[in-house]
Amino acid sequence: MDLNFLAELKNIVGPKYVMDAQEDRICYSFDATFRDYLPDVIVKPGTAEEIQAVVRLAAEKGVPVYTRGAGTGLSGGSVPVNGGIVLVTTRLNKILAIDTVNYTAAVESGVITQDFCNAVDAAGLYYPPDPGSIKTSTLGGNIAECAGGPHCIKYGVTRDYILGMEVVMPDGSLVQVGNSIDGEMSGPDWPMLLCGSEGTLGIVTKMTLRLIDKPPAKQTMLAIFDAIDEAAVTVSTMMASGTIPTTLEIMDNLTICAVENYLHIGLPVDADALLLIEVDGEPTAVAKQAESVIKVCSDCGAREVKIAKDQKEADSFGLARRSISPACGKINPTKISEDATVPRSQIPAMVRAVRELAAKYKLKMVIFGHAGDGNLHPNILSNKRDHEEMERVEEAICELFQIALKLGGTLSGEHGIGYMKAPFLQWEFGKTGFVAGRNIKAAVDPNGILNPGKLFDSKFYQEE
Ligand SMILES: Cc1cc2nc3c(=O)[nH]c(=O)nc-3n(C[C@H](O)[C@H](O)[C@H](O)COP(=O)(O)OP(=O)(O)OC[C@H]3O[C@@H](n4cnc5c(N)ncnc54)[C@H](O)[C@@H]3O)c2cc1C
Repeated sequence: MDLNFLAELKNIVGPKYVMDAQEDRICYSFDATFRDYLPDVIVKPGTAEEIQAVVRLAAEKGVPVYTRGAGTGLSGGSVPVNGGIVLVTTRLNKILAIDTVNYTAAVESGVITQDFCNAVDAAGLYYPPDPGSIKTSTLGGNIAECAGGPHCIKYGVTRDYILGMEVVMPDGSLVQVGNSIDGEMSGPDWPMLLCGSEGTLGIVTKMTLRLIDKPPAKQTMLAIFDAIDEAAVTVSTMMASGTIPTTLEIMDNLTICAVENYLHIGLPVDADALLLIEVDGEPTAVAKQAESVIKVCSDCGAREVKIAKDQKEADSFGLARRSISPACGKINPTKISEDATVPRSQIPAMVRAVRELAAKYKLKMVIFGHAGDGNLHPNILSNKRDHEEMERVEEAICELFQIALKLGGTLSGEHGIGYMKAPFLQWEFGKTGFVAGRNIKAAVDPNGILNPGKLFDSKFYQEE
């Protein structure tokens, strides 16, 4: 990289926070997906002003900027596919205020999600979005991907908690969008445009988030099924029954066995599927909801519904869910995590389709995840060094996307598009939808400085 350019970066953020050694570049060349692209340099600004200066310099020199929070993304969003700068936000890690009167919090974008949830909890309130990566991911990354999580079925996803943001635009200007007033805003909803834009339209530096009351009581249950079809029907039946659980997560047999092998907590390895279900609210409402959940599960064919007898048991059910990724990682080295999502009524059809794809392409595919949202997280356990297998993986993914869209679904429920799913985006948006997305990007970032090669990038446009 040009030495003058490096010197200017060091001048802005301090020499300690500019890294261009090969070993550093390798560390920032990948996220939680399985391909890597080397950046030229990594910068770690500590303030919005430093980010502005870095972006202005990059814009002047035509160098791409790839914003990175914790790098836990599952679609390659932070991966520097065109080289250039990886701009890491983790030094913007201050929780600025938790307002227990207005139920809002002001935070910097590099704050780790779990740290924020803990601080909100200590203040007696609740912030529900809880991605599986909660202990590592940043709030900025959550906003950029519109992250969901097990609790989002009842409480909504990240977008439902954003009130306002401070954003560095691609020309280096700093803008405020939205405000800190719950539900009220002049003009168009700019925060919603930025939420889920995956670092392509601006770099979020601060945000004001909405908080809610903590639910006073909860009950956790584990429903055991001999046939995954019955578990799938249970999910759509429950969602139509009027009882909306806080959590409704599915694990298929391969997942159950992987987790049991990993944790040894007595999961039923002979079951074809489990549903982890949680209800919350006022104690009387919780008891009623639990009753309704047990009835739906039994009516749909559950062989048993275990009710957690205390918090310790509830935690062990939760631990099983949270351990899926490392447990599956022990089976095969490359875990390809898809999150094509379908309407709840199509969950049984999607479960069947995933199993058929696994058989057709002779792949190890596991199903687990936010079933209540129609997000089944079909994961392919493979080995990226086995080129013949990777060809089958690519074909299976292609077919999976087609099936999800045919069932009225979407390519991604929460993991975003990045560069991994961008070649398929036009299938979902159509030609005019894709061009509209590309035009928005071009209007906001005419020189393509922020996160090029992702989402609506022209290289993914197809003449039909
Ligand atoms: C084990 C595991 C479990 C997961 N579970 C879930 C889950 O349950 N639900 C879910 O939704 N996701 C989940 N994810 C995916 C991932 O954790 C989320 O997408 C998360 O929001 C990414 O946060 P991050 O800080 O790691 O962002 P990164 O991976 O660093 O970046 C993700 C995207 O956000 C952009 N970005 C980051 N910070 C900013 C910023 N300040 N301003 C603008 N753009 C920015 C990047 O450019 C990139 O496009 C999981 C991942 C793993 C590895």
